[in-house]
Amino acid sequence: AAEAAVHDGVFWRRASGERDGLERAVSLMGELDAALGNGEIEVHYQPKLCLATDRIASVEALVRWRHPVRGFTPPDLFIPLAEQTDRIGPLTLHVLTTVLRDTSDWRARGHRVTAAVNISAKLLAAPDFIAAVDELLARSDVPGEALIFEVTESAAMSDHATAVATLNHYRERGIAVSMDDYGTGQSTLSYIRELPLNELKIDRSFVQHAHERSDDAALVRSTIELAHTLGLKVVAEGIEDAANLAFLKSIRCDYAQGYFISRPITVTALLVLLQGEAAAAA
Ligand code: C2E
Ligand code: MG
Ligand code: MG
Ligand code: MG
Repeated sequence: AAEAAVHDGVFWRRASGERDGLERAVSLMGELDAALGNGEIEVHYQPKLCLATDRIASVEALVRWRHPVRGFTPPDLFIPLAEQTDRIGPLTLHVLTTVLRDTSDWRARGHRVTAAVNISAKLLAAPDFIAAVDELLARSDVPGEALIFEVTESAAMSDHATAVATLNHYRERGIAVSMDDYGTGQSTLSYIRELPLNELKIDRSFVQHAHERSDDAALVRSTIELAHTLGLKVVAEGIEDAANLAFLKSIRCDYAQGYFISRPITVTALLVLLQGEAAAAA
């Protein structure tokens, strides 16, 4: 989390005078309630590059909190708290609403990128959330096909029947489902095989040294082969240099995402990138 804060240029500073973590957490959550209504919660986008075409195929929505006093507050600091205090639903719907609005704008301008939203596993199967997603989609001119839900492996996904039914529900609406941070959880590819998924995102801890460490290379290569056998697309996360990107291309990874390609950027900066790409292709 500290690293993420540094990357965004401003250090997270612990407010002075707060005696312990609990006190800080309580005040942070009170502030989050207000932040959801006052524009402090922004969505930035990180491109996923299609390695076959060298074009941006998709963008991942990453939530950002610009707190007027605390400064940049990275998601790792408030997402887990929001999950524990029933605020993850409103937060995610805020992100999804922003993403649908932005995606509608990109489509109107002729950019056909899909948008990925991170959804906490418990929320994914919550009836209220499912109903809210249906309603947002019905009110939007953006089709479900323009969305990807990224979900991490977790205990909530281990209730197999519920997981399958939930994923099928989203699939019927056209929404693709991606398994995020793949390799860090306990699910095996044989379990993954049973789920109606579209995409696997290999965690950056396996990806980052794959071009220089034979054990990581073997892991990533075999994951890609097996995923393809199962009909899944593969995204490699955390690409930080050219050699790593070239290696992933050579082993037929489908998509790549990482600071070397682009950091998460504002919607304004993303639009500039998309327009530049379209102009270069014209
Ligand atoms: P994630 O979904 O796995 O997102 C990838 C994280 O890795 C992002 O951190 C991104 O900025 C960072 N990253 C991307 N490329 C690189 C790279 O080349 N090197 C390194 N070192 N890092 C890279 P971020 O934005 O701080 O988000 C952290 C986590 O917070 C996300 O992990 C996701 O689990 C969660 N998150 C973010 N936005 C949301 C949201 O709207 N809803 C939910 N439920 N979770 C979210
Ligand atoms: Mg993600
Ligand atoms: Mg619609
Ligand atoms: Mg990830």
